[in-house]
Amino acid sequence: MKKNDETSRNLIGLDQQHFIHPTSSMQQQQQHGPAHIFVRGKGVYLYDHDGKAYLDGMSSLWNVNVGHGRRELGEVAKKQMDTLAFSSCFATFSNKPAIELAAKLARVSPPSLRATFFTSGGSEANDTAFKLARHYWKVKDQPKKRKIIARMKSYHGVAMGATSATGLKPFRDFAPSLAPDFLHVDHMSIEALRALIDREGPETIAAFVCEPIQGAGGVHVAPDSYLCDIRSICDEYELLFIADEVITGFGRTGAYFGCDHANISPDMMCIAKGITSGYAPLGGVMLSKSLHEQLTAHSHGTLLHGYTYSGHPTSCAVALKNIQIIEEENLIDHAATMGEKLLLGFRTIQEQYSEIHDARGRGLMAALAFSHNGKNEPLAPKVVQAADQRGLILRAVTFDQQDVLVCAPPLIINEEELNQLLSILESSVQAVVS
Ligand code: PMP
Repeated sequence: MKKNDETSRNLIGLDQQHFIHPTSSMQQQQQHGPAHIFVRGKGVYLYDHDGKAYLDGMSSLWNVNVGHGRRELGEVAKKQMDTLAFSSCFATFSNKPAIELAAKLARVSPPSLRATFFTSGGSEANDTAFKLARHYWKVKDQPKKRKIIARMKSYHGVAMGATSATGLKPFRDFAPSLAPDFLHVDHMSIEALRALIDREGPETIAAFVCEPIQGAGGVHVAPDSYLCDIRSICDEYELLFIADEVITGFGRTGAYFGCDHANISPDMMCIAKGITSGYAPLGGVMLSKSLHEQLTAHSHGTLLHGYTYSGHPTSCAVALKNIQIIEEENLIDHAATMGEKLLLGFRTIQEQYSEIHDARGRGLMAALAFSHNGKNEPLAPKVVQAADQRGLILRAVTFDQQDVLVCAPPLIINEEELNQLLSILESSVQAVVS
């Protein structure tokens, strides 16, 4: 953005004075102003104030699955807002879009799942899942089952419970003193999980939570057998299995949900992001038929958990239309096909540079891991910056001694756009390492 243009200068000044950005360096914002001020989006591209196009290689925050500028979603939102923009879902009040969306989710999710509690996003979905897991064991007369096991390198959001579950330590250290009874285990080791359960005692553990593919922690893809093993361990020790599909849901990995690759059904599933492709805020937790039946069979009083925007009619109407687009345009199969090309492209780049030691991914989630020896400055942030200058948005992950670049373009990306992405990435890597 041209910083000498008067309108731009005004906006930058106002941003610096009044806007606190999420997950951003506050100091950098004061020194340099906002990185971009976008004014428009179309397909896989975002456009800034000067009309410069950026290929959105992150689907913004892994969420704009159907791409930017879809008029149909705006039209549905307007229609719903004109008819019934909002009404509460507390005290069993209901609305048509929320009912229809919950029913649709039951049809497309892994077979065990039946009912949905809606939230405004992924962090609230995880907090809800943790509270419901503890509530479940309390009503089953096992109130000691309270601990939640999560994985190292995981990201579950920033609400108090979600932060406590997050395995990336800097997020937990940001505001010390979090929620009690959260434990962390190696992110790929089944043996370590067994050992932890045995040490703590399964009678003290409520649930295990994991992302089928770890996203914000650096796109770590566990083998399908890992998820199958987790399912068996949870059954064996009587723990609830919570799948955090906030990123991996709605086609991102080339299947409807990440769990579908391993053909397993969790007891609870957290969803958000791709459910509306970001056109309206929405998240939720799905419960299995069995959990739902057990919680509804007895009179436990009121479910004392609810957000003002749980079951927001406009967000739910947008989600229904978004899911219809994903299905009608075959975007899940398309993501699988384009994902193979993306990974192949990443591997080809890896082969050319000794500084890159891993290229990994599944569907339209991919990562390049640089060799960070702990002393030198990490390379991924520099590559991300070089790509930004060339009109491609990516993201760097440097937590836990990692030096990783992550990429997750919209599911609608076509071959030409994918080649453009790969070519900008390659020239950015070259500019940084040579
Ligand atoms: N879980 C996962 C796996 C996520 O990637 C995220 C967001 N990146 C969240 C939860 C939190 O979602 P939100 O930002 O909508 O609260």
